[in-house]
Amino acid sequence: MGEPLDRTNRVFVQLTTFDKALPALEDVIIEYSEGSIVGRVRDGSYRSRTSVRNSGGQLRCSNPACRRGGYELDFDIHDMVRNKLVSKRFVKHCPGDEGSPKGRRPGRTCLNSMDGRITLIYKPELVPERIKIKDRLTRIAFEKCRGCSDYVPLVPLQEAGRFGCGEHIFELLPDGKLKVLKAGSHWWPKQDEILDAVKTQATVELECLLLSREDIDTFIGGSASPETKELVERCLEGEIPVLAKADGAYERLSSVGGAARLERLKPETIRRICA
Ligand SMILES: [Zn+2]
Ligand SMILES: [Zn+2]
Repeated sequence: MGEPLDRTNRVFVQLTTFDKALPALEDVIIEYSEGSIVGRVRDGSYRSRTSVRNSGGQLRCSNPACRRGGYELDFDIHDMVRNKLVSKRFVKHCPGDEGSPKGRRPGRTCLNSMDGRITLIYKPELVPERIKIKDRLTRIAFEKCRGCSDYVPLVPLQEAGRFGCGEHIFELLPDGKLKVLKAGSHWWPKQDEILDAVKTQATVELECLLLSREDIDTFIGGSASPETKELVERCLEGEIPVLAKADGAYERLSSVGGAARLERLKPETIRRICA
């Protein structure tokens, strides 16, 4: 282990307790790989794991000759709390050098670096609203919309054989081709155009709030219940798509005001998601 950077002059590191410095958090977990590593570590294959509550906001550099080095994470953690994040990947280079202990003879720069992931564990009563919903998200892989140039998911709609991306609506014909029922704002594809039955292969993974038929009380046209509206609006604020699933198809609850079909959610559903 190298000799770490002296941090006694740091504003909020002043040997305060974890609870005083980070009152919203139960703990912070850091998973990382460190050393003279080249390039980035594959996500999830980190070699070490540590708790900031137990070991503080600075990790030691593993280069034995390193002086004034180490990896400071306090600023990153505070930044994450401020931005209401749960986990974040980061890469840091050791700021140390291989000189004499007091720094009279500065040596060459330490070449160690680390690649890791910080995960914040919030106290249950202090979990930000956005994250409460995030905990209940499901990842689903959909086919990419053929009409959109970006990677937009094509979601099966309630009407059998229909798919939509939010902008386009397609009908799957018996021969596997797609008919454009609703064209988007782009020049292609046009209304009633028939697209070849080429499987795009491309899929888009969507992190969404998935509601099942059991979550829904009634389907209503025009306007949803105030509770459903509030939930959908909060999801939209956090850019979380809301999908309601019935009979194997999905309905995207995107626009609360103008959508033709909206669900009235059961009170249990609202409590489950917002509790
Ligand atoms: Zn170092
Ligand atoms: Zn599209």
